[in-house]
Amino acid sequence: MGEVCVRVAVRIRPLLPKEVLHNHQVCVRVVPDSAQVMLGSDRTFSFDHAFGPTASQDQFYESCVKPLVASLVDGYNATVFAYGQTGSGKTYTLGGGHVASLVEEESGIIGQAAADLFLLLGERRAADVRSAADVRVSYVELYREELRDLLELHTAHRELHIREDDRGNTVVVGARETVITSAEELQSVLEAGNALRHTGPTQMNERSSRSHAIVTVQLTQHNHDDGSVRSSKLHLVDLAGSERAARTGNTGLRLKESVHINTGLLALGNVIRALSDPHRRGNHVPYRDAKITRLLRDSLGGSAHTLMVACVSPSHHNVTETLSVLQFASRAR
Ligand code: ADP
Ligand code: MG
Repeated sequence: MGEVCVRVAVRIRPLLPKEVLHNHQVCVRVVPDSAQVMLGSDRTFSFDHAFGPTASQDQFYESCVKPLVASLVDGYNATVFAYGQTGSGKTYTLGGGHVASLVEEESGIIGQAAADLFLLLGERRAADVRSAADVRVSYVELYREELRDLLELHTAHRELHIREDDRGNTVVVGARETVITSAEELQSVLEAGNALRHTGPTQMNERSSRSHAIVTVQLTQHNHDDGSVRSSKLHLVDLAGSERAARTGNTGLRLKESVHINTGLLALGNVIRALSDPHRRGNHVPYRDAKITRLLRDSLGGSAHTLMVACVSPSHHNVTETLSVLQFASRAR
């Protein structure tokens, strides 16, 4: 893939039944046969991909994420993150992330990526019986700049640390890694993690709007002919709601939360911008500004492939937030 390592996709969800019921008007559309979206009647924004309300999970996966899974098997790191206001479709698009055991008609990115990964690994193994691979998954939550392990009930409150090893790999020290051998197994591991995050769906939604959830799929491939080992990983990140970025008027705990969320989202925006700006190649990339960028460091930039999915609501009630998400996303290119 060479030059372009950051791609940006926008996805506009359909109006929800209750929005239709309350007569919400659609204020944002995909410009036909383009990767542009139009807000209102005159503001257009350009992206690498744009999907409207009728796009299926399959279409989204095939055009945006499938190439990243292929590159993972080729030994490259990759990151997919979903950005957008609460209720815009981040979790729906990722699938299996924040939502507890949702039975979706079609599975989202996580389920499809896992299915594809095991298919590709099976093909490799069929072609060369002396190759072997193992897949491990970890699932952590980042809330107010603190990391929490969602796969380890008893140590959920133990502190996790981000370290960089001598080969430049980022590791979350103390995070549990579970070996998985199928896409179904991944789904059940994540569901157990989701159960740990909350006790009821309302609380869940509250929490998911204020924290980042990071699923990491770590692939290790062994070649028994030459004894080589190749490691690569894919991060799938459900970010805190963009509306949580610092707002004037917030006080106390809410203010502290907002400051942390703002720091994280801003830092991510700055890193992405630095990576996609050709004039800044080789210049300073501000990874250290927040935990989310420190954690993703070895999978953003360099030889890694990054996809930012900007999710937006079509409703005119959300026009202000939609504008700010489109601006954030178009600046990332
Ligand atoms: P977020 O994670 O950004 O807060 P959700 O993924 O929970 O948002 O989506 C909010 C609601 O919209 C959910 O009821 C979800 O099922 C629905 N939804 C989101 N995107 C789509 C889509 N592309 N097609 C159909 N329904 C969607
Ligand atoms: Mg969500």
